[in-house]
Amino acid sequence: MNIQNYINGNFHNPTNDDWIDNYNPSNGEVYGQIPNSTKEDVENAYIAAKSAFPSWSQTTLEERSRILIKISELLEENLQRFAEAESKDNGKPISLAKAVDIPRAASNFRFFGNAITQFASESHESIGLQAINYTLRQPIGVVGCISPWNLPLYLFTWKIAPAIAAGNCVVAKPSEVTPMTAYLLGEICNEAGLPKGVLNIVHGLGTTTGQAIIEHQDIKAISFTGGTATGAHIAKVAAPMFKKLSLELGGKNPNIIFADCDYEDMLSTTVRSSFANQGQICLCGSRIFVEASIYEKFKKDFVEKVKQLKVGHPSKDDTNIGALVSKPHLEKVKEYIAIAKDEHGSILCGGNEVTIEGFENGYYLEPTVIEVPNDDCRVNQEEIFGPVVTIMPFNSEDEVLQMANKVKYGLSATLWTNNLKRTMKMSNELQAGIVWVNTWMMRDLRTPFGGVKASGVGREGGFEALRFFTEAKNVCIKY
Ligand code: NDP
Repeated sequence: MNIQNYINGNFHNPTNDDWIDNYNPSNGEVYGQIPNSTKEDVENAYIAAKSAFPSWSQTTLEERSRILIKISELLEENLQRFAEAESKDNGKPISLAKAVDIPRAASNFRFFGNAITQFASESHESIGLQAINYTLRQPIGVVGCISPWNLPLYLFTWKIAPAIAAGNCVVAKPSEVTPMTAYLLGEICNEAGLPKGVLNIVHGLGTTTGQAIIEHQDIKAISFTGGTATGAHIAKVAAPMFKKLSLELGGKNPNIIFADCDYEDMLSTTVRSSFANQGQICLCGSRIFVEASIYEKFKKDFVEKVKQLKVGHPSKDDTNIGALVSKPHLEKVKEYIAIAKDEHGSILCGGNEVTIEGFENGYYLEPTVIEVPNDDCRVNQEEIFGPVVTIMPFNSEDEVLQMANKVKYGLSATLWTNNLKRTMKMSNELQAGIVWVNTWMMRDLRTPFGGVKASGVGREGGFEALRFFTEAKNVCIKY
């Protein structure tokens, strides 16, 4: 199936008629092609967005809200179709796409459709000076949204929904590896009555299509989710043009387990926080630190549970672990398993590719647990982003805190304990944008989302996102 760019409400082939193969990770076969868009396609998308802006930015909040909520409803009506498309494109189990990815994409539109009707700005009375200040929150204009492959529609819409809710027009690029649901979203937007040009979707490679978006002089803000190296590159290009930037980047998140936790809850959640979506979630707790007194018990129980996870074709109901997203990514993850062996890590389970009958060329890997001798090894310091976790014991709060904070990243941290003082102390001191205590991946869309250190700059979510996608202008009136 060939997909096309969505520009000004219509579907277009790339201007140079150049195409890229789109692979199905579950069987390694090419199942379609996507546009290899150039600067010219991005310019066409920009022109459409620019033309739509005067009218869209003046559209009432009620009308914007109505359209966003309609998009949300249409996504829900098309749940099965979108979940199948996401699974085929990404390799994730359909059950996961159906329970998480597509419902969350629908929630993103519903949430920001509602949030924009509640978004307010400040007023400051300058007492004694006979003046009043009020702040306008004006849309920026044309903005760029660039997203990765791991949660394709989920993260794509997490950017687009607040951008258009706030009155901007968008030029967006999904990952070239997982473009399908972004393509299908164009149809839904038309059906929901989104005016032409408000959202434009160009497909292609990061280094060409993405690059054309970030270096476009008149695209005034970039919201990006992806790897830290790409984020650094984008910052370098965008900073001299003074673009607004939101960067959501990589992570290497600690999962810290104390002996006083609710053990069974911790164990089943830790299996999920390690291997959900084949471990390809920026929030996965890939470094597991366990208090020494329960370390041996945890090691035995955890490995036993992980061995029960079924690696299988994404369409099967009993599949827990689907295919990794691409051949190069599978090779990268395998390389890290080899590095772990070189660094004297012990593979407690997994570590091998899996062959699924009938789908022998798919990108399947066993969920892998590695016991590491110390925290300095590369598998504990570098982002692997696959079904691989490390475990090691710790003896004290201070020791584990020091290890948790030692990485260059700071996206999220998970803490398992029933000790209140410890919870408060560690939550304060963990260097992360998000700390989960006795849970994982529990998301309230009103909360600020983002990382510190090499995990990013800025916050998404709730009014933070609407603030990012607007410019504050203060008006001071003397009376
Ligand atoms: P990449 O950084 O490789 O790519 C992300 C997006 O940026 C893709 O659409 C990519 O295009 C595009 N891109 C690449 N180069 C450029 C460029 N020069 N200019 C503009 N755009 C460019 O990340 P991955 O897709 O591999 O995603 C995995 C990474 O994302 C992991 O590090 C993960 O931690 C992170 N991530 C962070 C999250 C967070 O909220 N902090 C959430 C989810 C993932 P293309 O791929 O088509 O070439």
